[in-house]
Amino acid sequence: MNKLNIKNCARCKRIFIPVSKEKICPDCRAADLELEEKVKSYLRDHPGITVNQLIEGSGAPAKLVWRMVQQGQFENSALKDAQYPCGRCGKLITRGAYCTECADKLKANAQKFAAAMNSKRRAAEKKAQTFSDSMYDAMDNSRER
Ligand SMILES: [Zn+2]
Ligand SMILES: [Zn+2]
Repeated sequence: MNKLNIKNCARCKRIFIPVSKEKICPDCRAADLELEEKVKSYLRDHPGITVNQLIEGSGAPAKLVWRMVQQGQFENSALKDAQYPCGRCGKLITRGAYCTECADKLKANAQKFAAAMNSKRRAAEKKAQTFSDSMYDAMDNSRER
């Protein structure tokens, strides 16, 4: 049986069929690409501006421009400050999705979560173990009788 592979677009909420793992529908993707082109051509016409000037000047959503900066879609020299806010605390950063502190915190949280999952799994294994032990005990008992 084939599982129907459909998804709600993260932006317009319309249902679409993803080709790979994309979160937005082809229409929204096309609109994004159009905006990206607009941003790129604005930067070509105004080299050396800041990210904020690029957002204001191109009229593109800040998030889209930040993502482009993060993805390294601009040449280094084209922007005066290739900075965008950390996805967690909003501090300006130049690489990755989070600032160093947030990245450390997220890593610590992930480790804590993994440790919690591990101890949960161990507890479950122990329970299973105890169960089979008592089953063997019961079998032994029945044999003795
Ligand atoms: Zn969409
Ligand atoms: Zn941060």
